[in-house]
Amino acid sequence: MAKYIFVTGGVVSSIGKGIATASLGRLLRNRGFTVAPIKLDPYINVDAGTMNPFQHGEVFVTEDGAETDLDLGHYERFMDVNCSKGSSITTGKVYRNVIEAERRGDYLGGTVQVIPHVTNEIKRLVQEHAREQEADVVIAEIGGTVGDIESLPFLEAIRQMRTDLGYENTMYVHVTLVPTVGPWGEVKTKPTQHSVYKLREIGIAPDVLICRSDVEMPKDVIEKISLFCGVPPQAVVESRTVETIYEVPVVYEDYGLGDLVAKRLGLETHESHLGAWRELVDTIKNPIHKCKIAVVGKYTSNGDAYKSISEAIVHAGIANKAEVEIKWIESDNLEQGRNPAEILEGCDGLVVAPGFGGRGIEGKIEAIRFARESGLPFFGICLGLQMAVIEYSRNVCGLTGANSEEVEPSAPYPVIHLLPEQKGVTDKGASMRLGSYPCNLVHGSKAAELYGTSRITERHRHRYEVNNDFREKLLEHGLVISGVSPDYRLVEMIELPSHPFFVATQAHPEFKSRPNNPHPLFRGLVEAAVKRHQIALV
Ligand code: GLN
Repeated sequence: MAKYIFVTGGVVSSIGKGIATASLGRLLRNRGFTVAPIKLDPYINVDAGTMNPFQHGEVFVTEDGAETDLDLGHYERFMDVNCSKGSSITTGKVYRNVIEAERRGDYLGGTVQVIPHVTNEIKRLVQEHAREQEADVVIAEIGGTVGDIESLPFLEAIRQMRTDLGYENTMYVHVTLVPTVGPWGEVKTKPTQHSVYKLREIGIAPDVLICRSDVEMPKDVIEKISLFCGVPPQAVVESRTVETIYEVPVVYEDYGLGDLVAKRLGLETHESHLGAWRELVDTIKNPIHKCKIAVVGKYTSNGDAYKSISEAIVHAGIANKAEVEIKWIESDNLEQGRNPAEILEGCDGLVVAPGFGGRGIEGKIEAIRFARESGLPFFGICLGLQMAVIEYSRNVCGLTGANSEEVEPSAPYPVIHLLPEQKGVTDKGASMRLGSYPCNLVHGSKAAELYGTSRITERHRHRYEVNNDFREKLLEHGLVISGVSPDYRLVEMIELPSHPFFVATQAHPEFKSRPNNPHPLFRGLVEAAVKRHQIALV
């Protein structure tokens, strides 16, 4: 039977509960355990696929095509596991199941209520996932902050799970904020105390407190938290703000959290192997090279909207021993008559991010033109590939007015058009081409060289594709179609051989990059950018 760790958050949101959960998972993975992370999200959307990235951050896509919360990206990157549909449980999903069951008559005339029907469904989904994954340990993070109305059924369900499964099989970890106030930067414990009181009111007494703090927490502060919150001092973990998020598991391990959790859950302790992880943290903190990469997108004022891309760039930095600065560029800004050369000044590489709809696309096309003509390393992701094809069609193939049907349905040259299987699809939820698909790479291409193989799989999330009617024209004018679906129907990757680095993919490679296994295409981009930076210096 699996052991369960439930992670809740207190005081305020955005204190890094996802990173804390992911880091805890890393500690258990280091001890050789099979860990299945789960995110329990209180929102009523069935999944995150219909949510605006500007409000909610990136939509993370799993191998099996679930559109999920960005925290699943942290879990995958830190724990080096693949999440799946069952890793994400939302209020919408739970209620949908309950209502469907009610309509079928499964409740035999009973009155359907939050307790027990909704809570039972939450518990069923959590345990079903644990069984499917054959997990030694399930780490389930509850979205939101204790005190939110919406998360109450989830908290009630995890409270019941202690009674159902026993003390030795369940553990509660509460992540709180320990702020400093006043001119002397006094460390304050009261918000943590209140947050724990709130949790206790619901019937949950935390076993571990992870205290997010910007400064070192003095011993007496830890003792005070321990006393007031009923948690032993060794389980009050100081989680100080660190230089890189990848350092958090190291901080926890050195604090003894891994051993504490293993002991508390009666997990037969294996030796912890954190050596390789420490090395990668060391590489991030002591880079040898430098470069700056511009990321053009529509939601760049919210860094979370492109979380996996910025992390994949960090990973590629590790592979190249380089510190990569990201310059976020709103695509709208490229459209207001400003010269891309001016906006991209000082940048050694350009990423054109995924996206939907027409806003900002002309700016993206202009930036790509500049990169193509000036030899600036360019990497296009999904919409980025589509924009690169439009740019090439217009400015190299002479197809004036070429566009995507998504932007201009009556374009004279619809070089990007709807995937045939998307015709007639009207629902927006979970209806795109989603999840992992195979792709064959052309022998001798940059892509094949970087991947080191000619058969790959990548995750997808799109409705449009390169229009095959224009494939010949593009090839005639020197564009290399370096990746295609095994049935040759879909253009999956393009590149320009005469350019230092001009690669674009219809997929989302950012979702598969891991700090200990950087993605080959991001690695190639950063390598090219570092080279360009070095040339610019001499
Ligand atoms: N809007 C484009 C499509 O649906 C690109 C999607 C994306 O960038 N994820 O095909």
